[in-house]
Amino acid sequence: MPQRGPGFHRPPAYPNIPPALQRAHEFMELGNYAEAAAAFEKLALEAKNQLEPRAPFFYLQAGCARIHLRQVASGMTHLRHGLELFAASGHYHQLYRAGTRIVHELKARGLEKESQEISRLVHRHIPAISESPTQRGPEPGRRTPLATHCDFCGGPIHSDEMEWADATTATCPFCNSPVHLEE
Ligand SMILES: [Zn+2]
Repeated sequence: MPQRGPGFHRPPAYPNIPPALQRAHEFMELGNYAEAAAAFEKLALEAKNQLEPRAPFFYLQAGCARIHLRQVASGMTHLRHGLELFAASGHYHQLYRAGTRIVHELKARGLEKESQEISRLVHRHIPAISESPTQRGPEPGRRTPLATHCDFCGGPIHSDEMEWADATTATCPFCNSPVHLEE
């Protein structure tokens, strides 16, 4: 857990983190990918049915868990679906940054063909990416996360893939809690 100042308590404004979400992140952290995949698939479907903007993040987590299990075909289905949901909702910056991270992760796992497929998917959207407005917050590469994981739900924080409220505050894509970053 990240260090907190003395007397810091979880703010009452964000008490309703679903236990299923916290458990899903825990399974992932513990390397229990079978449980993590099942949990994120359920969260992804629920979020998608309710048209929640966090649905693609759940699909990417589910895909990542299936890839860890070497269930490459179903993993790729989830990864493609997550990235296409970013495009469908106009979140091109998230598509580009998450897609680029996944390309590198697949390549590092020796999944060259799959890595190229995701790379092609990202590149198909390059015109829209370059035309979409610049994100708020500091420039990518100058964002220093205070924590690598969300204080509230335990989700992994990729600072370049997040929504920014202002220059120093981003929102956890999994639970919508604020994640403060260092100056
Ligand atoms: Zn969170």
